[in-house]
Order: sequence, then structure tokens, then C-alpha cells
Amino acid sequence: MHSHEVTRRSFLRQASWAGAALFFAPRAFARPIQQPGIEPNTAAPADRLQQFRTAGATTPIQVTKLRDTLFLLQGVGGNMVAQTGPDGKLLIDSSAATAASRLKDTLGTLGPHPMKLLVNTHWHFDHTDGNAALHDNSGAFIMAHENTRNRMATAQEIAFFHLKLPPSPTSALPQETFIDKEKLFINNDEIDLVYMPDAHTDTDIYIHFVGGNVLHCGDVFFNGFYPFIDASTGGTVNGMIRGADACLAVADDKTKVVPGHGPLGDKDALQKYRDMLATVATSIEKLKSGGQSLDQVIAAKPTAGFDADWGKGALKPEQFVELVYTTL
Ligand SMILES: [Zn+2]
Repeated sequence: MHSHEVTRRSFLRQASWAGAALFFAPRAFARPIQQPGIEPNTAAPADRLQQFRTAGATTPIQVTKLRDTLFLLQGVGGNMVAQTGPDGKLLIDSSAATAASRLKDTLGTLGPHPMKLLVNTHWHFDHTDGNAALHDNSGAFIMAHENTRNRMATAQEIAFFHLKLPPSPTSALPQETFIDKEKLFINNDEIDLVYMPDAHTDTDIYIHFVGGNVLHCGDVFFNGFYPFIDASTGGTVNGMIRGADACLAVADDKTKVVPGHGPLGDKDALQKYRDMLATVATSIEKLKSGGQSLDQVIAAKPTAGFDADWGKGALKPEQFVELVYTTL
């Protein structure tokens, strides 16, 4: 029984890590060995997008109640948060286009109010691929940072994964954008949308439900494993740290802190993550400014003290070192 239990537990652990991976390892495909992984050259870029969408068609969406009117939705791609109420439903991020009908059904179970507003945390397609369907079929109005619209409207490349992405269709694009911050008053709550510059990308915002005390940090927070930093669309490790600090500044001990990927967190989890990022960045900065090459820094294993806790996600420690080194 023990070995069975262990096997199942480690499978679930793997599955949840893989489910948290960026574009390519949705839960349904999660297998320790067969999952596509993030080795940059092992799968054609189109395959990664296709796999994400294929999984989106069959992967269940788990619902976790955060507050009476706030829910965490976890399927393929980034974590979503839904708010319900008399003004209509607000949703943060949109999963895969192929998950649209399942997402619509799931939202239907949360209450009778119509879909009204979709907010994107950033431009990456594992957070925006469902936009067009929510707009066209459910009438969602879409808001995001202006860089999110600009990036979605044009072809993009995520160089680290050798991933080339075409422009999104017009109906997927945010209809209203902002630069620094935006404040909404919806369903008897105050909702702050705040830009975090040069963090995971150059398009990231956090969404803070002030009364509900729920904070969605987008991909500036990966809960429990090394985060991806998308240098080719403006991400930097120091921006990630500043973004985590901005999230920490509006959180308290009772805040439900939602990461872009990984399990629901709290202020302590976010603080641990922030401290890991800062410690790693400081060590690598020292080595880099001392003239060490990327290979030398990787060989020095600057993350060794963190790998047992943070190195079991989609990014291998040496890949995380590379992202930090190149964005410092
Ligand atoms: Zn992302």
C-alpha cells in the first residue's frame, strides 16, 4: 500500500507541477517522462500550442470557493478568478480557446448573472486564448494593460521556447486598456488593476479585490517552483521582485493570493517566493558583475540551496539561472 500511495502521490505532484507549466504541459498530459517539457528544441513550437489546445478540450475545470462571490478556476493554462454578482460576472484570464464551452458551463454553475467583463493578467496565450470565445459567445468586454493589447495585436516570439505566435483575432483583443492603474467598482467591491513593469513580461498587472481580500498576481507569482521570465517580451528578474513587492504591499494575513500557476497561496507563500527570487538574483548578480560567463555561473550552482523546494517545476534550475542571468 505504501508504494502505491507514494507512486500516486508523486504522480499527482508531477501532474500539478506540469499543469502549472507555461504552455506545453497541461494536466491531462502530465507524465513525468513523456510530457513535452521545456527543452527549447525538443518540440516544434506549433506542437506546444496544439497540445495546450488539445488538452483544453478535455481537461476538467476545478472550482475552489474563495469568498461568497469569488472563485478560483483551474483548468489548462493560468489560474482564473471569477467574481459573481448583480452587475454580472467578472473573469480574470481565459484559458484555452478549446476550453470555452466547458468554461461557460462552469461559470454558469456559479450563479445566474451574465458574463460581463474579462480582465487579462498579461498577454501570454495560456491566459488569453479563450478571449475571442468569451467575447463573441458570452458578450464579455475585455480589459488589460495597453501592452497586452499591443502584443496580442502583433506577431510575437518567445525566444526561450523558440515559440512564434501569430497576431490574435480582433475579437480577442482588449477593448479597453490602461497604462498605470485602473479602479473598478463592480458587484459591491472595489477592484484595483495595477501595472507591474518589466516583470514576467512588459504586460503584467495584478488584480486586487479590496473588499473580498483576494489578490490575483498573474505570472509574477509562481507558487512553489521557479518562475518563467519572458525576456523576449520585456520580462526581468528585478521587475519580478518589484512586482512581488507590490503584491505583498496590498496583502495581509487573510488575503487569498492567487498565483498565475500553482496552488492557491497566501501572503507567507508569496513572501517566501519573493525572498527566493531576491536571494538568487543577488548571488547571480555578484557572479555576473565579477565577470563570470553564463556557463560558469550555471556551474557554480547558485540556486543549490533552493532546488529541493523550488526546482521540481517545469523549469530546471539551470534554466532558471539562465533566465535570471540574462535579464540582470
Ligand atoms: Zn505567462
